[in-house]
Amino acid sequence: MVAWGLATLASILPHTSSASDNNHNLLGYSVAWKQTAAEYRALYYQGFNLAKMHLDNALAKHKKGDKPLAIVTDLDDTLVLPLEYWGKLIQNNKDFFEDPLWDEWIPTNGMVASPGSNDFLEYATRNNVDIFYVTSRDQGEPTWKLAKQNILAMGFPLKDDAHLTVLTDTSNKETRQNEILRDYNVVVFLGDNLNDFRRKYYIKDDVEGRIAKMEEDKDLFGSKYILFPNPTDGHWLAAIFGQSEPEATPENREKLIQAATKSAWLGK
Ligand SMILES: [Mg+2]
Repeated sequence: MVAWGLATLASILPHTSSASDNNHNLLGYSVAWKQTAAEYRALYYQGFNLAKMHLDNALAKHKKGDKPLAIVTDLDDTLVLPLEYWGKLIQNNKDFFEDPLWDEWIPTNGMVASPGSNDFLEYATRNNVDIFYVTSRDQGEPTWKLAKQNILAMGFPLKDDAHLTVLTDTSNKETRQNEILRDYNVVVFLGDNLNDFRRKYYIKDDVEGRIAKMEEDKDLFGSKYILFPNPTDGHWLAAIFGQSEPEATPENREKLIQAATKSAWLGK
């Protein structure tokens, strides 16, 4: 009877966004994990420890006359964590990525360096390993300057402007990656999205197809490709929705639930 009473009361009150609505925010678990889990942070240490191991091996083998050594790295969710941004989304009762808010937030330098990133980049620099930042972002005309500002605010080394590539009109990083590969021996690629490694993994509307492409290269993960965790955004969403920043619509919420129940026990 009490439950019926509350339900009736709720049904006659004007509908406003409330804390109880937010209790059902689809982003809740993913963002809570990013904000609080020691495991999340440990995965960054794990990634950078692995990367350092490969760097040490490459440095030991490197001879005079060999191509110089380099690292190619993504920025967001690889070297920097946009935790504040996701917290704000939840606070605003938003359950899908919101571009205008992201663009407003980027210039604040509110991101934090991912655990282990500073030490790793400093170690690479000390050993004369070039660091190439390749990111895709679009905040209009100041995009590149903002990315540079973020890098410097985190205390990351930037050898010169050519070491930062910001793609505003495409997420295809391969052209720039290939240019770097021509002149450098890239020891590892760092990213939170398979697209940070090669473009072949950029597959829309096909969850199984994308997984199959990844399986083809299973030996490269942890060796050539160092992958960091990101359960809130990335091209894994494009495999489900056909785009990596789907609209916050009832249809897309339903699609997400379908994805979450891709397999489900047939019992009670
Ligand atoms: Mg990223």
